[in-house]
Amino acid sequence: MGLNGDYRRVFSSMCTYPHPVAVRAHVDYLHANLGDPNLFPELAAFERRAITILGSLLGSAEAVGYITTGGTESNIQAIRASKLIYGKDKPNIIVPASAHQSFNKASDFIGVELRKAQLNDDYSVDVSSVEGLIDDNTTCLVGIAGTTSLGVIDPISSLAKLARRNDIFLHVDAAFGGLVIPFLKKYHKFDFNVDGVRSLTVDPHKMGMSTIPSGGLLFRYEDDFEALSTNTFYSVERSMTGTRSGASVAATLAVLEHLGYKGYKNVVAECMRLTNLCVERAAEFGVYPLIEPVMNVVAFRLPHLSKVALKLTAKRWHVSIMNNALRLVIMPHITESILVEFMDDLEEIVTAHQR
Ligand code: PLP
Repeated sequence: MGLNGDYRRVFSSMCTYPHPVAVRAHVDYLHANLGDPNLFPELAAFERRAITILGSLLGSAEAVGYITTGGTESNIQAIRASKLIYGKDKPNIIVPASAHQSFNKASDFIGVELRKAQLNDDYSVDVSSVEGLIDDNTTCLVGIAGTTSLGVIDPISSLAKLARRNDIFLHVDAAFGGLVIPFLKKYHKFDFNVDGVRSLTVDPHKMGMSTIPSGGLLFRYEDDFEALSTNTFYSVERSMTGTRSGASVAATLAVLEHLGYKGYKNVVAECMRLTNLCVERAAEFGVYPLIEPVMNVVAFRLPHLSKVALKLTAKRWHVSIMNNALRLVIMPHITESILVEFMDDLEEIVTAHQR
């Protein structure tokens, strides 16, 4: 069963329809290769502006960085930067057990040992477990602001204290949460406002409603970003790929400027309204989430989980199973009527299993 470009019944993806403004800008710059910024100075300026907007939103208007292909590239490059900066023979990095698989790839590609820290009962990383894994060869700690499976925010301030005390790089993976958390009603300190956070992943092609591929990698300090420099025949490159899309840079800037703080706040507010509606409705038929949702990700504990998921799939719903729970991401393409239709189906299937 293919999607055929239709996200409407999709609860399993962290991507969504790009905003029409992003699509238009993307099409206008389809030819542009930012691997050679000298050929496209206008786009290079667009990229700097997009990074400044993202940085300002995430606690530092002075942040530097670039538009990547997504969270995977950003995370790999952050780990690469930390390895180059600290220059250890046998480097290791410490990530929460909840970290995205891109850190496994980073470990393979870059040749750093991956150490996984345990989680607390609320699925955030256990800082004492992180501390216990640090040794003289640790180059980077990673905190997640919006985990893939549950949308949990790790205790970034405590990780930052550890990182500063041990002189270690701290990277925050806010691929999903970076364009959600700043717009939530509750304030969370997770970004460059936390002293010690050196780099951040934030993906415009997720909740930013830009086109794919649009990721973001931000550094607090120019010197850290410079660690990624390679001289090419025609310029200095800090990206992972050589040829890279100018179209997604134009799309990202267009949608960031068009929606602005107020526009994204409205998008997130609607996603959160529907997330809360989803939890309330499930409670009516005795189904409860693993944790109270922090952002627009819900995971329901269910008996007969895989059978329920199969039946939902048969009804053409796209869902995923993570942490032994039914995981739903309430993206901007989910409308109230679709959510109600889905919850009716879920209730029918769950109730049938209870009989
Ligand atoms: N980090 C987190 C927290 C994610 O949730 C994801 C993807 O869902 C990624 C990184 C990887 O992003 P991408 O698929 O854009 O490479």
